[in-house]
This record gives sequence, C-alpha cells and structure tokens, in this order.
Amino acid sequence: MAEIHSLELLVQALRRLPGVGVKSAQRMAFHLLQHDREGALQLAQALQHAASNVKHCALCHTFTEDGVCPTCRDPRRDRSLLCVVETPADQAAMERTGAYKGLYFVLMGKLSPMDGVGPREIGLQKLFDRIDALAPEPDSEGPEDSTPTDAASGQMPCEVREVILATNFTAEGETTAHVIAQALKGRAVQVTRLARGVPVGSELEYVDLGTIAHALVDRR
Ligand code: ZN
Repeated sequence: MAEIHSLELLVQALRRLPGVGVKSAQRMAFHLLQHDREGALQLAQALQHAASNVKHCALCHTFTEDGVCPTCRDPRRDRSLLCVVETPADQAAMERTGAYKGLYFVLMGKLSPMDGVGPREIGLQKLFDRIDALAPEPDSEGPEDSTPTDAASGQMPCEVREVILATNFTAEGETTAHVIAQALKGRAVQVTRLARGVPVGSELEYVDLGTIAHALVDRR
C-alpha cells in the first residue's frame, strides 16, 4: 500500500505545474519511476536546491541567489534607464539582443483583473518605490551636498531618467503598461513604450531578437 500512496503523492505534486492535468502527471510519474530513477533524484535535488536558495533581487525583483542580482550590481549598466518586463524570460530575451545596457525591473507577472491579479499581486508598489528611490527629486533645490551619493544605503550614485515599458503586446501586457504609465505621471521620469515592431498579441520571450532590438530603438 505504501508505494501506491507515494505514487499518488507524486502525481498530485506534478499537477501543481502549469498546464499539467492528471493524465500528464501520471505519464511523467510513470516515466520517471520506470525509466529514469536517476533523473527523478536529480529533479528532486534541483527543485529542493532552487526552492531553498533562489530569492528575488532586492532592487529589480528578478530571480537571484544573491541579495542583489549581478545585473543590478554591474557598474557598466546605464543607471539612467529602467526597463520594465513581465518575467525573467522576457528579461533574458532583452539581454540576448545586446541592444540594451540599462537596468531592469521584473514584475513577475502582469495585471489580469479577470484572474484576480491586481497591482498588489504583481508588486507594482515595489516598482514605484524603486523609481522613487532612483529618480531625481521633481524640484530639488537642496544644497550642493545633496547629490545622489546615497552612502547610507550603499548604492551607487544613480538617477533613472527613462522608464521603458517592455511588457508583452498582449491585452494584459498593454493594460499593465497603461496602468504603470498613468501611475508614473507627475514623477520626474520619461516613460516610453517599446515600438510597435513587436507583433500584437505576442510575448517577448518568443519574438526574434532583431525585432525586439528595433522596437527598443524606436521606442517612444
Ligand atoms: Zn537586480
């Protein structure tokens, strides 16, 4: 009886994956147990390791094992640009173009009111806090020593001047971009959107690199 219970637990666990129903979960479980026990143990280890060690970057919110991710720490990145993407996969797509040298903010999702995903769920406030931390004061007339060295937080001097909305060209991605653009009105940053070279309805992750690079250059 014990094995049957274990098998059921495994199938239930696999069903947590997006798009995996009972039948697929059973197929995966049978495959691992029948043909690939070593792979099953590797999978278990990798899951355990990732689940315990991967965190969110304190600055851009992407996945990282460090407190602040390598991209945010890289002194060669242009700190006047902040590109907002939905997922780490979209960030990776932008990176592969080689056309972008600024910083990122990864929403880890998109607004989807129909599915109960609101501004709170995707951490929009974190984005606004991040921009406020980076952006110059709208009307700062302070003394000379108020230059943004920010020694207290240990951050490099930085000023974001442009926020590039690179959410996907799907209904939810457009809604997300619109909500962010509205919320950023009144802040001392320029807000741009990737140009329309990217096909409507498409996700950056699946768009060819040249198209993304063009959309970036032609942003407005
Ligand atoms: Zn980061």
